[in-house]
Amino acid sequence: MGSSGKFFVGGNWKSNGTKESVKKLVQDLNFAQIPSDIDVIVAPTYVHLPYVVENIKDRFQVSAQNCWVGKAGAYTGEIAPEQLKDLDVPWVILGHSERRSLLKESNEFVGDKTANALAHGLKVIACIGETLEQRESGQMYNVLEGQLSGIADRIADWDNVVVAYEPVWAIGTGKVATPDQAQEVHAFIRKWLADKVSPNVSSAIRIIYGGSVNDKNAAELAGKEDVDGFLVGGASLQAQSFATICNAN
Ligand code: PGA
Repeated sequence: MGSSGKFFVGGNWKSNGTKESVKKLVQDLNFAQIPSDIDVIVAPTYVHLPYVVENIKDRFQVSAQNCWVGKAGAYTGEIAPEQLKDLDVPWVILGHSERRSLLKESNEFVGDKTANALAHGLKVIACIGETLEQRESGQMYNVLEGQLSGIADRIADWDNVVVAYEPVWAIGTGKVATPDQAQEVHAFIRKWLADKVSPNVSSAIRIIYGGSVNDKNAAELAGKEDVDGFLVGGASLQAQSFATICNAN
């Protein structure tokens, strides 16, 4: 933990689940042993949000996986922050690499969405991360700076932001970053925030790691100084694995 805040574990369910499987996962999570002194967030699909909000124990906080860049209105297919607030959903994941790459979301767009979500009272898990090609060609830090600047140029208050470092090459691939690789980038992000935003933000913010985190590798990653938690994809669909990760700190 480099942050003065609580250890943070998010489960990103992505576009997975049926009514039946979500019901089972919620039941299993409600029975799981989760430490009381950490923040635990689950992010189901939009269509499963109301069910999860109503049926998961209060011990869990609920997150959307995206939201619209403006107010509610004539934006076919979009969900606005005030609609998430109306459903009692406190968190939203923004800038996930799957959206950056598949839906061409730019750094500026992710920054605008972050500002809009915060302005409507949501808390944001802001995702950044480099591709393997960017890492191997020496572009990694430039890419991360661009992603961070897209957000930092548009928001003043970071109290309700968690930064998720998710190297694209580690997401869903089974190829987790080594603890040293994660630590190196997390330390870079913390220093960047200290230099470009403020020392207070840098020391308070949670910087979490995502990309093939599972019940076997979580403890070693959590042992690194600047790893303040995880954003978990595949392993968050299994309550027991997710609970083990929540106990990794
Ligand atoms: P993964 O996904 O754990 O399945 O690699 C992580 C994420 O994309 O948030």
